[in-house]
Amino acid sequence: MIELPGLARSIPETALQDVPCGLCGSAARETKFTDGPFSVVTCSDCGLTYVTPRLADGALIDEVYNEGYWSSSAAKDRGYTDYRSDAPLYLRTYRKRLSVIRRHFARPGRVLDVGCAAGYFLSVMQSEGWDVTGLEPSDAIRPQAAERIGAQNVRAGLLGQVDLPKGHYDLITFWDVIEHIPDVVGALKVAREHLAPGGKLLIETQNVDSRAAAMLGKAWQHYKHAEHIYHFNPKTLGRVMDEAGFQVLENTPRLGGKYVSLGFVVERSQRLHPALSFVLSPLKLVAKSAVYVNLFDEMIVVAEPAS
Ligand SMILES: [Zn+2]
Repeated sequence: MIELPGLARSIPETALQDVPCGLCGSAARETKFTDGPFSVVTCSDCGLTYVTPRLADGALIDEVYNEGYWSSSAAKDRGYTDYRSDAPLYLRTYRKRLSVIRRHFARPGRVLDVGCAAGYFLSVMQSEGWDVTGLEPSDAIRPQAAERIGAQNVRAGLLGQVDLPKGHYDLITFWDVIEHIPDVVGALKVAREHLAPGGKLLIETQNVDSRAAAMLGKAWQHYKHAEHIYHFNPKTLGRVMDEAGFQVLENTPRLGGKYVSLGFVVERSQRLHPALSFVLSPLKLVAKSAVYVNLFDEMIVVAEPAS
């Protein structure tokens, strides 16, 4: 048995599997760094950065995305500190991101959000007049979405396993989701089948070639090895889209920021340096105040099926 950072219980070593590149299948790679049992590597053939070994698919769902994921005492390694009580911050973040949607859609339509978590994005879309459907495999968070956007609008499971109408949705979104999906090209191909004519795909994921990633090194907040199994850059994400049959319309770090509490800023600064968190500790007095932080280390991609 081995213990992994952030996981509540130790897991058998057989739950970890060495994997080749999830994009081109090559086993040739260069190691960026090693952290416990995990290595963050870059494929020598296609340039994809990925984690190996990683948890086998079944263990990913069972051990990572359970109750502790959404209310984690070790959120720098796994999950969120308190996903529920941060609702106002998430709602504000998604309201700001509406400008991307409005740029591409003159009027509301049907949206499918893959990995909808507590339904924050969809509740913002609902208030804009969109017909919303959320897909969420985690039993621990799905009831929150049902409560927020209506139980009839939330489905349990993974894309491809749930019976959803084909050629139906004007917009399909993956917010902070594709970096968790083992067969990402396969998932996006399925998404394409569910898009209505003229429909679009929106993806947000972290950019491993960003300046923040380079400056922060191993301390970059997106290195969470049990769950973030891929780290894309514009080139590798472009290849994913190409193989899934999409053409990219735009890829921008604008609006990739988030409203966070000052308490969160203090907590995460501990990861960089204990002294920094001491310097910032007076901010704990106003821990509930919100600030908008954009490190320009996310990519928001809008794409449409290639003709
Ligand atoms: Zn590769």
